[in-house]
Amino acid sequence: MTTIIDGNAVADDIRADVSACAETLADEGVTPGLATVLMSDDGASETYVSMKQRACADTGIESFHHEIDPDEPAEVLYDRIDDLNADPSVHGILVQMPVPDHVDKATVLERIDPMKDVDGFHPENVGRLVSGNARYKPCTPHGVQKILAAHDIETEGKDAVVVGRSDIVGKPMANLFIQYGPGGNATTTICHSRTENLGEKTRSADILVAAAGVPRMIEGSMVSEGAVVIDVGVNRVDADTEKGYELVGDVDFGSVREKASAITPVPGGVGPLTIAMLMYNTVKAASLQSDVPVDLP
Ligand code: NDP
Repeated sequence: MTTIIDGNAVADDIRADVSACAETLADEGVTPGLATVLMSDDGASETYVSMKQRACADTGIESFHHEIDPDEPAEVLYDRIDDLNADPSVHGILVQMPVPDHVDKATVLERIDPMKDVDGFHPENVGRLVSGNARYKPCTPHGVQKILAAHDIETEGKDAVVVGRSDIVGKPMANLFIQYGPGGNATTTICHSRTENLGEKTRSADILVAAAGVPRMIEGSMVSEGAVVIDVGVNRVDADTEKGYELVGDVDFGSVREKASAITPVPGGVGPLTIAMLMYNTVKAASLQSDVPVDLP
């Protein structure tokens, strides 16, 4: 029997915990605040930002939305970040990526006050994660950890294989797997586009995380019997639907589910966790900045 993991159910539990923490903070006069900054006309980015705003409303977090014309000079964005860093009602700042080409992404990430960096991408927070003293774990890999924990999937001593080495998913995912403690202690392999004999590596996985952005690239023949398969990929492929496309993962669900002991679907797997963990980090940020303790699991 293969377990089809319900990411929405795991995210619901996390949102309930986050809401309870937001209430604790509110009782002490602190309303957690998340600022979203959009410097793009891209429809998908607009959708992501509005989903994040809705999630804030659902969990007792105040959201402050800022839009900057993508033709404005980069300094307009940098100055806005400075203003948000100085605003005590804002505990978390999220600049929706991608930013226009004339904006330096590294400058954006470094400009955000590390205490308000709820994405966990500032070099200080990356360093803390790597050294085993994470402040804000990046949302998607943290969400994967939560999915595994919610399904009592042990990582200790297991072979974990991560396909993808991006700064937002692959690298932090692997870093979480190698940390000491719960959700870690896995023997971890990172694969990428230059990896040779990829199937050999993925077949060695007890836990396989696919985050390559290549539709259905992980096929049944690349997975061992009984593996846990977590599909981070979200890819638009042409389809005979009303919208003319459908969303598929990096995993070929049909063939892999025949082998896996547990698998996340797309959509409805990892995706809901990413936003839930952003809310989690925002409440944590509010707690750290106000010195009001909260009980975040
Ligand atoms: P990136 O494009 O930044 O990174 C992709 C990684 O996959 C790179 O390291 C690349 O290798 C590697 N890769 C690409 N092709 C292959 C291949 N054929 N074999 C092995 N490795 C390969 O993507 P992201 O990490 O940002 O995102 C990955 C996927 O996850 C995307 O589909 C994205 O939409 C999705 N995503 C989903 C989220 C969610 O909430 N569910 C959140 C974030 C992302 P190299 O470094 O050598 O180029």
